[in-house]
Amino acid sequence: MGVFDTIGTPEYQSVHFGVDHATGLRSIVAIHSTVLGPSLGGTRFFPYTTEEDALTDVLRLAKSMTYKAACAGLAQGGGKAVIIGDPTTDATDDLFKAYGRFVDGLAGQYITAEDVGTTVANMEVVATQTHHVSGLRRDHGGSGDPSPATARGVIAAQRAVANMLWGDPDLRGRKIAIKGVGKVGMSLAERLTGLGAELVVADVSERATDLAATRYGAKVVDVDEIHRTHCDIFAPCALGGDLNDRSIPELSCTAVAGSANNQLADVGAGDQLRSIGILYAPDYVVNAGGIINIAAEDGGYTTAKAAQMIDRIYDNLIEIMTTAERLGIGTHVAADHVAEDRIAAARTIGGNHDART
Ligand code: NAD
Repeated sequence: MGVFDTIGTPEYQSVHFGVDHATGLRSIVAIHSTVLGPSLGGTRFFPYTTEEDALTDVLRLAKSMTYKAACAGLAQGGGKAVIIGDPTTDATDDLFKAYGRFVDGLAGQYITAEDVGTTVANMEVVATQTHHVSGLRRDHGGSGDPSPATARGVIAAQRAVANMLWGDPDLRGRKIAIKGVGKVGMSLAERLTGLGAELVVADVSERATDLAATRYGAKVVDVDEIHRTHCDIFAPCALGGDLNDRSIPELSCTAVAGSANNQLADVGAGDQLRSIGILYAPDYVVNAGGIINIAAEDGGYTTAKAAQMIDRIYDNLIEIMTTAERLGIGTHVAADHVAEDRIAAARTIGGNHDART
């Protein structure tokens, strides 16, 4: 299948390839939609095995950014970038400068930020070449690392799930299994501990699990075991695809609500969860805290304003779960409907902002 078939035009607005031989930059930016506003999404730095893997990932991630922003009620579209390489060895300042020039060439249709494998410090370097970057340091007028905001949103989602299932949003005494205690997962662990939840964690990094055990008294299990943990809520906070044919029959939780993007291996995985009675909180609704935090930069960022906006995830998710129950459909389908309705409505009235016009 050729590149244009993979992109599936007209589903994606455009895809851009950035190369800089001097620094080794190989990057792809996918712009899924700018109907609701300029496309916003982080830059993932990852050692993809093949270029096809990188393209598949950036396309999936860009689309979910469109749905995430739409569901969160933001005037933003969806886009994403990947840089192919190992962030521990290849992430030089010169490479990020070249990347900044590439992003600048897209003339504001795509606004970047940090994601897996990139940091606020990297974005500061990107900002030397382009204005189309967000999530910069607080003392540079930005909203800083979005991860704590994302974790705040996950808490709002887990409280909504608890209210839906047990009639009480309180997470005290609830057993929560976190897969991946990185930037978001660790912040989530801290917040859950403060709320009196019981934690089980797993991570490929022993340093991370040691920290979660020491700081938050979390029980540590193997990465291949975590999804089987008998718990109230399973929170995937590592990479995507954790909910699949193999893992779903082994789940022993009542609900899934975590930060990882693209948790469902495919739509069938959402249907499968519903059929076995596990409540799935759609990933892009749960993990919208980071993008909402960035949206709070508009008109001047304050933590209080951002927190208030992020906490609306609770109501958004209650609405989606209630609609799903009423219509007898999966929560993943109900969330898609909410996003698609908002995009269709914006298209009808000419869009809040459409970079194509
Ligand atoms: P991170 O890289 O800081 O953390 C990911 C953690 O997962 C790391 O500790 C890593 O060692 C661990 N991990 C990787 N593979 C694993 C595996 N197979 N099993 C167990 N652990 C594994 O990334 P992050 O910023 O915390 O993001 C986590 C997830 O949340 C990602 O899917 C990301 O796309 C999503 N997300 C993050 C944000 C944000 O604000 N950072 C916002 C929205 C969505």
